[in-house]
Amino acid sequence: MRRIVVAVLLGCLAPWAAQAAGSAPAEVAAQLGRAGLNDPTASAFLESLTTEIGPRLAGTDAMTRAAAWAEAKLKTLGFENVHREAFPMKAWIRGTESARVLSPAPQNLAVTALGGSLATPADGIEAEIALFRTYADLLAAPAGSLADKIAVVTQRMVRSQDGGGYGAMNPVRRAGPSEAAKRGAVAYLLRSLGTDDHRLPHTGALNYADGVAKIPAAALSTPDADQLERLAARGPVRIRLVLSPTERDAQSWNIVGEVKGRERPDDIVLIGAHLDSWDLGTGATDDGAGDAIVTGAAHLIAQLPQHPRRTIRVVLFGAEEMEFSGAAYAKAHEAEVSKIALAGESDAGARGVFAVQVPAVVHDGEFGRTLADVLAPLGAYLDRLPAQFSGSDTMGLQKLGVPVASLRQNMSDYFDTHHTADDTLDKIDSKQLNQAVAVWAAFVYLAAETGTDFRPATAAAK
Ligand code: ZN
Ligand code: ZN
Repeated sequence: MRRIVVAVLLGCLAPWAAQAAGSAPAEVAAQLGRAGLNDPTASAFLESLTTEIGPRLAGTDAMTRAAAWAEAKLKTLGFENVHREAFPMKAWIRGTESARVLSPAPQNLAVTALGGSLATPADGIEAEIALFRTYADLLAAPAGSLADKIAVVTQRMVRSQDGGGYGAMNPVRRAGPSEAAKRGAVAYLLRSLGTDDHRLPHTGALNYADGVAKIPAAALSTPDADQLERLAARGPVRIRLVLSPTERDAQSWNIVGEVKGRERPDDIVLIGAHLDSWDLGTGATDDGAGDAIVTGAAHLIAQLPQHPRRTIRVVLFGAEEMEFSGAAYAKAHEAEVSKIALAGESDAGARGVFAVQVPAVVHDGEFGRTLADVLAPLGAYLDRLPAQFSGSDTMGLQKLGVPVASLRQNMSDYFDTHHTADDTLDKIDSKQLNQAVAVWAAFVYLAAETGTDFRPATAAAK
């Protein structure tokens, strides 16, 4: 009887999955990798999300629809324990936005408000600009020197495979508005954090500092930042900036689905991505692709004849861009932290994974050797550098002691369209998306099946 049941079950499985029964973890991981390269789940997921939901700014009706969509999708894909976890947040809703040079050469500028920005008065803020070609120049400006001015920072972001140019420039967007306000500025503009040359500005959140006046802030498209540099080099420039965003109390949800572990169901390998997106595009690369990658990878593993020993938990975070979901998740799951063996997050676009970073303690052991062997045919390598950061939604868990892994995707062109109206499905190369699914599936399976301890103290004690 049991044999018949097994045969029937195997009959429902893809041929690669049937072969995996009884194989060593390395062999199953390799099979998962090969299967991931051609599995249609991630592409179909991403097409459905970006088409049927589209933009999904946290705290809006679109995000409410996205959460329901995600819950239904995870159930349809056969995940277990599918549910959503609500948390409160402040929603920020974009209004109208415009900027215009009034003198010496009247013309419109392409701008978009930064997430969290306050509104200008209804008729805008009209002022002379103080332009800084680097952020360091702004920080060197003395107190009071920007009184009644609109501060403009035009420093360029550097393009790189690992996307490190973005992190280096992040303070210009996040802290720049308050730094300008400390020096007396009445508004703040920056060159978009992007590596493109089109006129679509890149939005993104700011963080106002406590005890400092909150001034409206927006990003200029790259060509418009160039234009202001040339105008400012010729003499005084007056502009008018109009922004009318609003804020309100709202809620969002982290959406969860699991592949229950067969031996240690309470031990968790947590993989996540963020479901919310900015409002300008359809969030295909940021971060619909990440949702598709982790869901597609876990779905492949769920099709194996037997689940791995540990549970794989997929979390689709519901307010990353405005920085609420990671903290909400860590707070709600603080008591469970010791059971989370490893966390990983996919929030780096839709290109292939070229390197995997793991906690230092497992790099040179059997786990690291097996992983390196499994990665090689997929075109990725085990990085010598240990994982330091996985993503902003798992950072809260990491601070509580959860080990993290970092699967590095090629981000060379990610910041051409990131946070712009041009972050749309046509930018996705499904072959590269599938390579990422393949690497995630193989890696996550090994982490869940081998039962490897990724925590430094306990692993060292062995
Ligand atoms: Zn993101
Ligand atoms: Zn983003």
